[in-house]
Amino acid sequence: MIQLSDVGLIGLGVMGANLALNLESKGWRVSVWNRTAPGVGKSSVQRFMDAHAEGRRLAGFSGLSAFVASLSRPRVVIVMVPAGAAVDEVVGNLLPLLSPGDVLVDGGNSHYADTERRVQLLRMRGVHFVGAGVSGGAEGARYGASIMPGGADEARPVVMPLLESIAARAADGTPCCSWIGPGGAGHFVKMVHNGIEYADMQLIAETYALLGALGRLDNESRAGLFEQWNGGRLRSYLMEITAAILRRREPGGGYLLDRILDVAGQKGTGRWTVTAALDLGVPQDAVASAVFQRALSAHKEQRAMVSSFLGTRPVAVVPVAELSAELEQALYAARLVAYAQGFELIEAASRSFDWAVDAASVARLWRGGCIIRSAFLDDIAGAFEAGEAGQGLLLSSRFLAPLCEALPHWRRVVSRSVTDGVAVPVFSALLNYLHALSTERLPAHLIQAQRDYFGAHTFERVDDLRGHFHHEDWTAPPMPGPSANS
Ligand code: NAP
Repeated sequence: MIQLSDVGLIGLGVMGANLALNLESKGWRVSVWNRTAPGVGKSSVQRFMDAHAEGRRLAGFSGLSAFVASLSRPRVVIVMVPAGAAVDEVVGNLLPLLSPGDVLVDGGNSHYADTERRVQLLRMRGVHFVGAGVSGGAEGARYGASIMPGGADEARPVVMPLLESIAARAADGTPCCSWIGPGGAGHFVKMVHNGIEYADMQLIAETYALLGALGRLDNESRAGLFEQWNGGRLRSYLMEITAAILRRREPGGGYLLDRILDVAGQKGTGRWTVTAALDLGVPQDAVASAVFQRALSAHKEQRAMVSSFLGTRPVAVVPVAELSAELEQALYAARLVAYAQGFELIEAASRSFDWAVDAASVARLWRGGCIIRSAFLDDIAGAFEAGEAGQGLLLSSRFLAPLCEALPHWRRVVSRSVTDGVAVPVFSALLNYLHALSTERLPAHLIQAQRDYFGAHTFERVDDLRGHFHHEDWTAPPMPGPSANS
């Protein structure tokens, strides 16, 4: 008798192949399928099976129908192909082969609106669609990722045991995988994860630049500082790999980092985060600045030309102990505000789309397996769990005091960088956000007056109820009123 598989996996690229091996290693029987280009030698499926099948519960298929027929019911198929048209193509080909009650999981980086659409579309056919954000790269896919599933609720009891089994474990042993909510909730949270990743990476890059420009520190000394900080409250995967990157030498001598072109790539999830934030009206200063900074990095020739006219060379040399103490404080505080902005975006989307996302479980599942895993996600989860973040994470009792302590250092870091012409767009954007957030009366009343002047957009008055709108005929002589000394 042919033994049916527990789960099918489509797309044997970097992520798919590793996820298939991870699933198999957790005791699941796995069928795999990949498209086959005509005229190539060995197909991806053959190559995968040749390399991995011996002694493993893996079954490879070149035909989609045979692949689907190899799965036990309800069938679960995980799709790991590029976001966009490829997912629609795979879904379109699979759908006629599936039955009501089957589950389709898109584990790629799909846009949450596409996932919303697919959940609705497949619901009409009785198939339960899940959009599961997966973070952790190839290593995470193989040995434990951070997984953010959401979509058709009926799929939840079917997919959670599978996904939890291949998720990373946090230090306390809990799987880094939680059901996020309906529709596109899972992919939305993954998108914000990536947005925070952009901000965190840029903050670390700015810190590296400041240590070089103001402290004149070489790569080894900078690596030493990142390692030192990684032993404390800044402990995180990104700090850890930054130290390793800084120490990496070339076989012929010199540091690899110094020979890498300063043009940063991007695949779009940072831009999606900013677009979603614009749509929802939630500030995302850190991600926006980080995305624009990557865009600016690509303008290499323009930067080279402008630097020959306007480039500055820092003159001040700040003593290392002073600079590193300031930067540790600034980095902690700026990171905290960046994460707080990310959670605010998730909470705004959750309210707007009625997803009921539990922020504490998002923070918990980001503690392991994913790129932004860091020590203070434990504190963030704790703040949400204890109900301390009702007025935003920053006012939680566990963050307010460290933030107040860090603020003067953060200001000094930004003012030093402005004085010496070192670009720190995310450090300064977040500091300005915090200054605006803590300003009771912003100059927005002047903007309202201008809008009313040229466009009759009306304004509310401080001496009237909210929701009562006024208009002034700004070019007419002022109405006579009580005199100043009456
Ligand atoms: P990849 O290595 O480029 O593999 C893509 C796979 O999709 C290949 O098996 C490819 O088949 C298949 N494919 C492409 N177009 C297809 C189509 N129209 N129909 C059917 N199959 C198609 O990509 P990956 O890195 O594994 O990424 C897969 C997904 O995971 C993406 O959404 C990505 O954004 C996401 N993701 C990636 C990472 C990462 O670190 N790489 C991390 C998290 C999430 P062929 O071999 O025939 O081209």
